[in-house]
Amino acid sequence: MNTISELFGSLVFNDETMKERLPHDTYKSLHKTIEEGRDLDINLANIVANAMKDWAVEKGATHYTHWFQPMTGITAEKHDSFISPLKDGTAIVEFSGKELIKGEPDASSFPSGGLRVTFEARGYTAWDPTSYAYIKDKSLFIPTIFCSYGGEALDKKTPLLRSMDALNNQALRILRLFGNLEVKRVITTVGAEQEYFLIDKDLFNKRKDLFFCGRTLFGSKPPKGQELDDHYFGAIKPRIALFMNELNEELWKLGVLAKTEHNEVAPAQHELAPIFSNTNIATDHNQITMETMKRVASRHGLVCLLHEKPFAGVNGSGKHNNWSISTDTGTNLLEPGNSPYENAQFLLFLSSVIKAVDEYQDLLRVSVATAGNDHRLGANEAPPAIVSMFLGEELSSILESIENDKVYGGHKKCEMEVGINTLPHFPKDSTDRNRTSPFAFTGNKFEFRMLGSSLSISGPNIILNTIVAEELKEYADELDKAKDQEDFNVILNDIIKRTIKNHKRIIFNGDGYSELWQKEAKKRGLLNLKTTVEALPYFISDKNIKLFADHKIFTETELKSRYEILIEAYSKAINIEALTMIDMVRKDIIPAVSNYTMKLSQTINEKKKVGAEIACDVEYELLKKLSSLESCMYKKVGDLDNAIIGVKDNSDNSLICAKYYRDQVFSIMQELRAIVDEVETNISSDVWPFPTYADLLFKI
Ligand code: ADP
Ligand code: MG
Repeated sequence: MNTISELFGSLVFNDETMKERLPHDTYKSLHKTIEEGRDLDINLANIVANAMKDWAVEKGATHYTHWFQPMTGITAEKHDSFISPLKDGTAIVEFSGKELIKGEPDASSFPSGGLRVTFEARGYTAWDPTSYAYIKDKSLFIPTIFCSYGGEALDKKTPLLRSMDALNNQALRILRLFGNLEVKRVITTVGAEQEYFLIDKDLFNKRKDLFFCGRTLFGSKPPKGQELDDHYFGAIKPRIALFMNELNEELWKLGVLAKTEHNEVAPAQHELAPIFSNTNIATDHNQITMETMKRVASRHGLVCLLHEKPFAGVNGSGKHNNWSISTDTGTNLLEPGNSPYENAQFLLFLSSVIKAVDEYQDLLRVSVATAGNDHRLGANEAPPAIVSMFLGEELSSILESIENDKVYGGHKKCEMEVGINTLPHFPKDSTDRNRTSPFAFTGNKFEFRMLGSSLSISGPNIILNTIVAEELKEYADELDKAKDQEDFNVILNDIIKRTIKNHKRIIFNGDGYSELWQKEAKKRGLLNLKTTVEALPYFISDKNIKLFADHKIFTETELKSRYEILIEAYSKAINIEALTMIDMVRKDIIPAVSNYTMKLSQTINEKKKVGAEIACDVEYELLKKLSSLESCMYKKVGDLDNAIIGVKDNSDNSLICAKYYRDQVFSIMQELRAIVDEVETNISSDVWPFPTYADLLFKI
């Protein structure tokens, strides 16, 4: 196999393979079942399972696994072989419809946020036929949802599918109101651009912080960082090029549409962008991409870091979630059209997003809140923690003229009436040059840029789909009341004008990194939730409980269990980091400083023996400085230890506990780091126990 088209999807049981391998009737019924979202008939499942198994075995597979996305944020799998024993001691290769449709992994070790206490410990996985099965490492991977026996979602796929349905329902109502009877399904589409770092595996293994936490907890700045911007889109080094080639091939085999790759701003940082697909598949594919990056890196003696902030003082890694709404007939509903009719529809969908982002800023912020991402948001690289929306000058002034009944361009001659006048054309290219906005309109889609690099994109897309579904619902309810076409236009105009007027505070086209914006945003009453701990409680506010319940995304119980999981994950992450710091300081850094100060003392003594006139002021000053830093360090590490012991007095309530970690533990970690980094800049490279930033970032 060599050409890309032969390679592409070769390990995927995709539509083409199904068509080829399934009896025509079965293929058609399967399609129908999927399209209508009905449960799979067992007889049908048996035939599909058998064909899938034959195909997989031919490709060398021996096992199958239900592949699911528990609340850990990574994927889980449990492998069973295709072998079934017979009474005579022999075995046959078998795979039944039942095994395809349903699995029963023990759920008790996955985070359930309390659902486990209330309900049965066992969970079940169920095939998601809308995402194709594929082969990896001799196993057939079957994408599945993961639920408790009571039907509560324990995973990230179930609510995502629910949110796609919610949006479909409401968007279809709107299309019908516009007289469109042709469209059968509306889907959201996503292209997730993924940033990552590659570093040498041997160096990685020498750093406990990278090993345990995925980020460096110490490290003084190298003489050269990213200030020259000479890495961004720079020539790709041969070792990295080999990695990228293999990564692409692996992803293509699995049907992932890996498209562009380039070096990023920071040294050793890179990015991969796929071609967009429907949100469910894009989410599965992003998980596959992250996992494949790690696997392929390892084969090249590299480690792929997906942490949001592996290095202080160097750009962190994020993920850009490009999102749009599309019909099964291929129309992008966020694409401005050519006729007044198309424009009116576009403006209504645009309005729904504006209103959604303003009314649910809190949820968008919550959807990207993790301990790792706290290092990025608000720093001078990623979008700020304030959610706002970039529309570009042209579109903004079009909205302004609609709001104020002015002609676009400023002349006060005739009105800009939605559904009557044609929208002026605005060049698409001028829409996307503000990289500081957390949520930018880029011509025919929105780019949500606050996501951290390791995050499952499921969460943010659940929120996006749900909040837009809610606004479309409100609009549809209102438009339903129209008596005739004229009345419809009046209501439509009113909705759009009202939305712009009431929600324009969320639109900001300026520099999101500037201090001025922080002040301005405050004046506008926008939220600025700087840390995960501040953001997460909004997840379970009354307003949001109602939203999720109304659209059947999360029950109140499911929502609260997720909140618990997220808040605990925050505390756990800080706890592991604190313990790792203590370990590194006590076992490696203090011994290194002792070692070096002893050498300095010996040198001073030896010099003194040679004669009183020999200068030893340098050694003396260094000895004094390092000894004093060493005492500070020793004291600080003791403080950190005590702070961790203090956790138990605050552990009754998970939010109080997380706050304690942020205010009492994390703050000491930062102080300890400052001391250690100063030690590093004053000590001989010979005795420093870890690879430095310069080694990690430039020796590749
Ligand atoms: P850039 O941001 O570098 O200008 P593009 O605008 O072409 O690049 O696309 C960035 C990402 O957005 C790609 O992953 C692309 O597939 C995705 N994308 C493009 N159109 C859509 C769409 N309608 N829905 C979702 N994602 C899209
Ligand atoms: Mg982008």
